[in-house]
Amino acid sequence: MDPDKPTGAPLRFVTQHLKGYWGLTIVALLALVAARVASVFEPIWLGRIVDALGPAGGGVSLALSALLTLALFRLGMLAGDFVRDALFAKVQMGVARSMSRQVFGHLMRLPVSFHNDQRLGAVAQRITRASRSVTFLLDMLVISMLPTLIELIATAIILTNQFGARYAVAIVGTIVLYVGFMIVATEWRQRWRMKAIVSDEAVGAQEVTSLGAVDVVKLFHAEEQQIAAYEPLIAEREVANVRSNQLYSLVEAGQTLIMIGGSVLVLWMAIQQSAAGDLTTGDLVALSSYIVRIAAPLGFMGAIYRMLKDGLTDLAGADELVRQPLSITDPEKPVTINDPKGAVAFEKVAFRYDEREILNNLNLEIAPGERVAFVGGSGAGKSTVLKLLFRLYHPTKGTVSIDGTSVADLSAEQLRHLLAVVPQDPVLFHGTIAENIRFGDPQATDAQVAKAASIAQLDDLLSRLPDGLQTIVGERGVKLSGGERQRVAIARAVVREPRILVFDEATSSLDTHTEQEILKALDLAAEGRTTLAVAHRLSTVVKSDRIFVLEKGTVAEVGSHTELLKKDGKYAALWNAQQAGADKALEG
Ligand code: ATP
Repeated sequence: MDPDKPTGAPLRFVTQHLKGYWGLTIVALLALVAARVASVFEPIWLGRIVDALGPAGGGVSLALSALLTLALFRLGMLAGDFVRDALFAKVQMGVARSMSRQVFGHLMRLPVSFHNDQRLGAVAQRITRASRSVTFLLDMLVISMLPTLIELIATAIILTNQFGARYAVAIVGTIVLYVGFMIVATEWRQRWRMKAIVSDEAVGAQEVTSLGAVDVVKLFHAEEQQIAAYEPLIAEREVANVRSNQLYSLVEAGQTLIMIGGSVLVLWMAIQQSAAGDLTTGDLVALSSYIVRIAAPLGFMGAIYRMLKDGLTDLAGADELVRQPLSITDPEKPVTINDPKGAVAFEKVAFRYDEREILNNLNLEIAPGERVAFVGGSGAGKSTVLKLLFRLYHPTKGTVSIDGTSVADLSAEQLRHLLAVVPQDPVLFHGTIAENIRFGDPQATDAQVAKAASIAQLDDLLSRLPDGLQTIVGERGVKLSGGERQRVAIARAVVREPRILVFDEATSSLDTHTEQEILKALDLAAEGRTTLAVAHRLSTVVKSDRIFVLEKGTVAEVGSHTELLKKDGKYAALWNAQQAGADKALEG
């Protein structure tokens, strides 16, 4: 969002969600119109009561009947307002739900490249702000603005009828001046309001970053450092909010001034007419009552307009999010692989995240059931190869295919069934171990979950936990050790029964003993599947059928461990370096 272009979301962003609620909205509006129209006649009956009691009036009985009519109008208003509120609450909440679904749904579907550029706290704030603002905005738009407008127009019509065009011109003139000032001044204030929102998002982002990394903050004793980073952000938010609120008051003061001017003018006209004997006392009462009746909603209208603009500005972030293009989508007519075998091929694949070429003319073929590993220096593009296979990115050139079909032509549903990954640092969701395993396949039965847990060598741990599979793992799985989290991640991948299983440095952060246990679990998980592993520690890839050595974005060497050692090339050099390191560590 650009604070220098405080355009706000278009109104259509809100009204599109009214689909399905038009019926209810129209009934609520009719109730509202009825209540407003009823209220407009109040001063006339008030005037009649006064005139009835005057010297030329019709006496108490006429005053009483006028009072009863007034009471009836009041009751009508009450009933109309009640029906309106009851029905409109349903519309508001329905629209808020529809908008949250749209924004969150779009966010989930946006490619990883988009999310990599976002700050979590800022994005989360946009969703919350959208659902909060939209109910408020509808309230302003329909419940507050419309009746006020109706009241203003009806009052102007009645005034013309009852007291002549002079009054109507004075009152409408005041209204036009008031509204004109309101629109121009609010537009001007909106820039600060947008600045307040942008700085609020920066505060939210910092909060989520600090809280999300609270373990590291504690370990580094960096609490004060985090607070110091937070300080300027809240100060900036304060300045923007103060400026925005001050301007709000200034605009309000300007509007009130215009209103006072108009009231004085109309009353002056009435006093003159009354002195000339052209207006009865009742007329004067009705007229002054109309002035109050116009002044109040007009003031209210100014506030509503500002809040309406604020609401649209609040929604600008969410609107901007849903406008982001979905660059990675399912093909219109996805190809289905009926009996997947699990062959993988990269043909002349080139890829770049930005300017820098990461992969360049990468060619490789992996047979169904084969176990391969990717090794190479840091930044050689090993993880990128996996990301292309998972279609998190499209290659810049060339094709990545499974069983001869380009992954771009497959549905997300089929990719989900074909592939599963055990990542380097698995993120678990807050919930039980069973729920985390079932994340791999929500349809999995209890028996399938238990079997996956066994394959992942979790039985021992589960027997020691009083709640077994129902143990809560904590936010991001903080209550489990690294090795345990890794095993849950293996079970989560296995329960999906994928044809192709990918291990992305699944053991690199573990100690040697845990690594051996995890390797055993991975061995079991790999049975009968094609497996692709990215590894730093070469000891973990020795058993692979083939090892691809990546360098400068392409395959520099390929072969089994023994073949590559014999070749005495890049792999052999890497191996010897790691062996020397291990020996040194042992000697030390
Ligand atoms: P390592 O062994 O260190 O994990 P790797 O071989 O798995 O490295 P990749 O993660 O594939 O390497 O990254 C290859 C290159 O692409 C790196 O130089 C990295 O800086 C860059 N890179 C990775 N992800 C992105 C991204 N989202 N945006 C821009 N550049 C990226």
